[in-house]
Amino acid sequence: MKRLLLAALTSAVLLSPAGFSAGAASRPPNLVIILADDLGYGDLGCYGHPSIRTPNLDRMAAEGLRFTDFYSTAEVCTPSRAALLTGRYPIRSGMCHDRFRVLRRNSTGGLPADEITLPEKLKEAGYATGMVGKWHLGVFAIKPEFHPRRRGFGFYLGLPHSNDMDPDPSAPKGAPARLDQQASWWRAPLFRNEALMEQPADQTKLTGRYTEEAVRFIRENRRRPFFLYFAHSFPHVPLFASGSFSGNSARGLYGDVVEELDWSVGQILNTLRKEGLDKNTLVFFTSDNGPWLTQGEAGGSAGLLRDGKGSTYEGGMRVPGLAWWPGKIKPGTVTRELACQLDLFPTCLALAGVELPKARVFDGFDLAPVLFGKGASPREVFFYYRGTQLYAVRKGPFKAHLITRQAYGADEPMKHDPPLLFHLPHDPSERFNVSANHPAVVADLMQEVAKHRATVVPVKSQLEEVATTK
Ligand code: MG
Repeated sequence: MKRLLLAALTSAVLLSPAGFSAGAASRPPNLVIILADDLGYGDLGCYGHPSIRTPNLDRMAAEGLRFTDFYSTAEVCTPSRAALLTGRYPIRSGMCHDRFRVLRRNSTGGLPADEITLPEKLKEAGYATGMVGKWHLGVFAIKPEFHPRRRGFGFYLGLPHSNDMDPDPSAPKGAPARLDQQASWWRAPLFRNEALMEQPADQTKLTGRYTEEAVRFIRENRRRPFFLYFAHSFPHVPLFASGSFSGNSARGLYGDVVEELDWSVGQILNTLRKEGLDKNTLVFFTSDNGPWLTQGEAGGSAGLLRDGKGSTYEGGMRVPGLAWWPGKIKPGTVTRELACQLDLFPTCLALAGVELPKARVFDGFDLAPVLFGKGASPREVFFYYRGTQLYAVRKGPFKAHLITRQAYGADEPMKHDPPLLFHLPHDPSERFNVSANHPAVVADLMQEVAKHRATVVPVKSQLEEVATTK
């Protein structure tokens, strides 16, 4: 009997593409990261939105774990994504810049070759790696070395950058698109691997198309460990929903778009259930930065948090964070532990049984204790950067602002000496500066800043560019 079992296991190992046997206890888990673009802290039902319906994300939270204090690593797209895929503050990789804080469609910079990405490490370990959606880490039509397939992903389908970055000259700058204006205003290119499939991409079909490809990737790789990075293009403006979602939401077009995104998450979770992969897959849902408030009704909501995208107030960087893994994560857990997207890199590698690369600084922590209810978050401190400038620091309940700026150019940066100090659980909207009451806390936070700064070796920004247009 024992021999038969051994023979069966051996043949399963031999038959599987990467040396892993489907269903075997030793098989490392599948990893899925779903990233929304510009989705705010207050935009989901499970985070308190009154009129956007998100039953699938709400169910994901009910079956898994919801973070109340989870952060993106930057207040805009490019540095945030660079940090997620490298596990390092963007100041270390040069993927930040005070003036050009994101790559443009004619940028010549991109994620430096010497940065190690999460899919690269997982691929080395035998994972199938796929990406669907917005890349924004280098314009590969100009510099092919920045293509996702050169940075660890075996499969790619998506837009190279934001969906507003190829406007027709007739398009009003930054304006949210009405559905009837879509065809003539926006010319985003859709790529499948290296091939340009469609330009302008039909953005009303984008979420559906991404979802179809993500489901196909999961099905095709169900017999081996896989990593899927699903980076939605929405609800970044211009907003588009498909026919069946258009006009349905009480929140208007923005709600239609988020509700379609919620449907997409449901498709991913249902596919994992149907394929019998749910008990061996970690799915993490989050957003790259806060809501784009200056877009008016076409921008989302940070709930009770102050400000939004472009700002280092909480609304710019505290985002939804949901983790789902039936059988491993206790259903209905809500955690107030501090965590951020930098932590996904070491968390995923640890789950895959892969060691962190040596001889470089990583800024993340393995979140296993929080995910699996075994203890406190290993993260004590979080730094808020805007471009190359360190704007704020959080430790425990306290956050000190060295510099503040409201969302997207609404004012000039203001330096604070002594720093502003907010107690976030007491005052989540950052209204009451309590620095005078807590000089020792301010001193301690400034010490954390000094310790952190001593580890940062500034490198040339990779976002410096020839861009003359948005
Ligand atoms: Mg964004």
